[in-house]
Order: sequence, then C-alpha cells, then structure tokens
Amino acid sequence: MTVTLDRRGLLGAGVAGAASVGLSGVAGAKPVLAKGMRKADFKGAIAAMRAVVGPEWVFADEDAVRPWRKTYVPDPSGRHAPVGAVCPGTVEEVQALVKIANQFRQPLWPVSTGKNMGYGMTSTAAPGQVVLDLKRMNRIISVDPELCTALVEPGVTYRQLKDYLVEHNLPLWIDVPTVGPVASPVGNTLDRGVGYTPYGEHFMVQCGMEVVLPNGEILRTGMGSTRNPSAWQAFKWGYGPYLDGLFTQSNFGVVTKMGMWLMPAPPVYKPFVVRHKRVEDVAKIVEAMRPLRISNIIPNVVLMMSAGYQLAMFQRRGEIWDHPEPVTDEALMAAGAKVGLGYWNTYFALYGTPEMIAANEAIVRAAFAAIDGEVLTEAEMQGNPYFHHHATLMQGGLSLEEVGIVRWKGAGGGLAWFAPVAPAKGNETTGQIALAKQILGRHGFDYTSAFAIGSRELHHIIALLYDKSDPEEEKRADACYRELVAGFGERGWASYRTGVHAMDLVAQQYGAVNRAFNATLKHAIDPNHILAPGKSGIA
Ligand SMILES: Cc1cc2nc3c(=O)[nH]c(=O)nc-3n(C[C@H](O)[C@H](O)[C@H](O)COP(=O)(O)OP(=O)(O)OC[C@H]3O[C@@H](n4cnc5c(N)ncnc54)[C@H](O)[C@@H]3O)c2cc1C
Repeated sequence: MTVTLDRRGLLGAGVAGAASVGLSGVAGAKPVLAKGMRKADFKGAIAAMRAVVGPEWVFADEDAVRPWRKTYVPDPSGRHAPVGAVCPGTVEEVQALVKIANQFRQPLWPVSTGKNMGYGMTSTAAPGQVVLDLKRMNRIISVDPELCTALVEPGVTYRQLKDYLVEHNLPLWIDVPTVGPVASPVGNTLDRGVGYTPYGEHFMVQCGMEVVLPNGEILRTGMGSTRNPSAWQAFKWGYGPYLDGLFTQSNFGVVTKMGMWLMPAPPVYKPFVVRHKRVEDVAKIVEAMRPLRISNIIPNVVLMMSAGYQLAMFQRRGEIWDHPEPVTDEALMAAGAKVGLGYWNTYFALYGTPEMIAANEAIVRAAFAAIDGEVLTEAEMQGNPYFHHHATLMQGGLSLEEVGIVRWKGAGGGLAWFAPVAPAKGNETTGQIALAKQILGRHGFDYTSAFAIGSRELHHIIALLYDKSDPEEEKRADACYRELVAGFGERGWASYRTGVHAMDLVAQQYGAVNRAFNATLKHAIDPNHILAPGKSGIA
C-alpha cells in the first residue's frame, strides 16, 4: 500500500489538529553551513541532489526549508535549524544521496516521518545539515498473518499500517506511541520509543533491518543477508554480533526497511485505572506494580499519569492556576478531582481469554486494595475522556489528543521531554520528584509528569512546558533543561532519550569510555562524518 503525498503535503499533512498548537516555533537565527563547508560546496551538493531526486524534492532556500525548521525544543541561538531538505523516493536514491554527501562533505540528517515532537522534529543536533526526509518511502512491503510480522519502509505511518490491517481483515494489533496517527514505526523504534500494549517496548519487537551505510553500501541485518531470507522477520539475532542496536539512537546508517512483530488481537481486552489521591503515594504504587510487571500478570507498558499532565491535555494553565509561580499540588488535586482524576492515575490492561482475565483481575485488585488504590474499569469510567484516551492507546488505537499539552502555556507551544531512567523501585521516585520540582521551580516552570513502568525500570517522563514565542522564556527553558540533565546525572539518573538540543550533555552522563567507543565506530564507518553528526553526542 502506498500513500501519495504532494510536495507541501509532506509536512503540512503531518500534525492534523496540531498545526495551530505550536508548530510555530521556527528557530530564529539564520542557519549556518556545516563546519569546513563553503557556499560553493553547498550549492554543488544541492545541484547534485536535484539531479538525483528531481528539483521538486530538494528544498534549500530560506522559505522552502521553513517547514523542516519547526521545533518545540528550546533553540535560542537557532543552531539546530537545518540548511535544507531532500526527499528521496527509493533506496537507490538514498544510496546516491549518501555518495553526494561524501563528495561534498554535506552532512545529512535522516528522519522517517519527522514527528519527533518534544525531541526536535526535523531539527538537527549540529548545524549545517540537510534533512534526509524519507516520508516518500512509504510502502508496506509485506505483512505475514501467520507469523504476525510486517516489513515496512520509513515513511509508513502507524495510521497507514492500522488501515492496512483493517482493510485486509487481519486480526492483528499495532502498538502506538501517543502520537500514532502521524508518526512512524521506523522513526519511533529507531529513537527507542515506547507504546502501551504488551508490545510497547518497540525495539524489543523489531526484527531485521535494511540499512544504507555511510559509504552507500546496503546492509541487511539478522537473517536478511542469507540466501534464503524467509526468516528475516522471524528471528532477530542472525549470527555473530547483533547489529540492529547500532542503528538506533545513532548516526551509523540510514534505515530503509524495518521488520516488526505484530500482536495477535486477544479474545478479550480489559482496561483499568487505579486512582491515588496524594503525590507521595507514588512509591507504593511502584512497589505494588513491580511484581505484577515482572511476572507479566500485567503485560503492558504501564503509565502512571499525574493530574498535572492529564489536565494539560484538555485545559490551559490559566484555567487552573493564575500565578507566575509553579502550580501547586493542591491546585492540581482540586482541579483533577473535578474531572474524575486522582493525583496519580495508573493505567494498565489485561489481555487474554475470559478465564485468564478473571484470574489476573483478582490478583491485581488484591494488590491495589492493599495500598488503598481505587481500581476502576469501563463500568465506572464510561464517558471519562482520560480513561477513554488510555483505553484507546492500550489496544493500539490512534489518538492525537495528548498533543494538547503543548498549549499549556499558550499558543506559543514549547515542549522538551526530560526522561531519566531508574530501576522500578519506590524509593527512587520520591527523590526524583523532589529534585525535579526544585530545579523546575527555580526556573519558574511547572512539574508536569508521568512515569512509564516497564518490566523492571521506570521512565520518569517530565514535560518541560514553556512559551516558545517568548525569547526570554525559551532561554530559561534551555537553561532549566541543562540543569535537569546535570542535576539528575549527579545522582546517577541518566536519560533514556533526549532532544537535539541536549544530546551532547546527555551523552556525557554515560562516561568517557562509552563515548570513545562510539566515536571509534563512527570514524571507522563514516570517516567523512556525513551522517547526522552530533546525534546522541556522536560527532
Ligand atoms: C504529546 C506527545 C506524546 C508523545 N508520546 C510518545 C510516546 O508515547 N512514545 C514515544 O516513544 N514518543 C512519544 N512522543 C515523541 C515523538 O513524537 C514520537 O516518538 C514519534 O514517534 C517520533 O517521531 P517519528 O515517528 O516521526 O520519528 P522521526 O522523527 O522520523 O525519527 C526519530 C529520530 O530517529 C532517527 N531516524 C528516523 N528515521 C531514521 C532512519 N530511517 N534512519 C536513521 N535514523 C532515523 C532520527 O534521528 C530522528 O530524529 C510524544 C510526543 C508528544 C508531543
């Protein structure tokens, strides 16, 4: 299945309903060319690219590049703005573009659908890059209903894949990040993103890749390079060193095809929310949840949403709190109570036969009764938009409702995700919350958060929400984010992922040996450093 896109539709079609909410954040200062490049090299590279993909798919002047410069993350100096964009339609064109990049030393920044909202969209880690926008490569190459697998190109969206399964009457589920309709399985998986069904850890259910290497060669990972690649999407590991991880959160190749596993639709699906009233309940929720996750009694990625985060989806800050100081827990609890929210709202689901669900529901209810949790289901929560939103996500359904959070401080729409990792232990949570509030408060920002509970770890997902239309506030958000990374880093809490504005800083938290190893690999396979320099702090 293919989707035809016109040139401007490439980005415009992207965030239906979100265009008015904060895609206005175009970096201010004029972008500069990559280090060591002269104007003549840039012009030469652009002309050569036009010859490969056609002039209508290369964008290099100020106005034409504008859509690729939109970003929510703080970029007060404009250093993350790309200098151009090129949209190939085939793998062969990608190979040719990589060769041109080497010839002219013009760095390329690959994106799949480019909706990495709150992490940079299509802006780049280091200056002077041309976005290699793969949206036109949007074929669903195969779906195997027996093995429950798919092989897709980078431009395929979750919406497209879901539509395909429905059209072909296949009883398979996809697993989506919260912005599923406009985002792509390939882009999300390569940034090691998550969703909320039992297949929520996306890299875990990825199987086999095709990669254009920085020298233009094609590598197929796993079983994909054997004489009979029929097991390419069935067996992840192949033989020898496992390579797929090298192409996630990295700049070692351009992924042009990716295999993934799909979840068979279960006979019964039952979503739940557990409400807790007080912020300090967080530790006991995590303690109760850990054994249920490790034993797979609760099999999906659990979201423990704070009232602040949930309220921000549908309300503006001024409706709840009309002071410049950070919003208080008491104000959030009061506003949350009015719309059926606790301070913590923990969403999970059960999947299986009626008998399995009945047995597991009894275990889960007992575990939460022991910590005074209010366990609620569809029966009690019918009509509650927050419950409905999560019930949709936990069955791989599509929704863009959460994008509303970027409007918390007005139409200027600024968002940077800060996502430190900790083991799933209650005593890790309270210290993190106290530190986050201290740093955010010092800079005048609200604590708007959720915890994603994986099988053994916590992702503390903090949305740094600011007004990007106010240059002073953008600078303050930038400084605040840096302090969060450094402050959490000192306590051993490093991020699992970050935006283009802080990649080097986060890489520093992982130590010198790790950085040197990545740098050695980079230099060996990309000696001209033409693929995404600066990605994950790797030059
Ligand atoms: C309100 C809100 C909620 C969100 N919820 C979630 C969530 O639940 N889970 C989640 O994971 N994220 C979430 N996000 C963040 C983000 O929007 C998603 O992760 C989204 O899927 C990423 O965009 P994309 O799929 O278009 O990937 P892209 O932007 O295309 O790619 C992401 C990055 O991967 C690399 N990359 C992409 N394609 C290639 C390629 N072919 N070869 C090499 N490198 C490549 C690039 O560095 C790129 O910058 C949320 C954002 C917002 C605003």
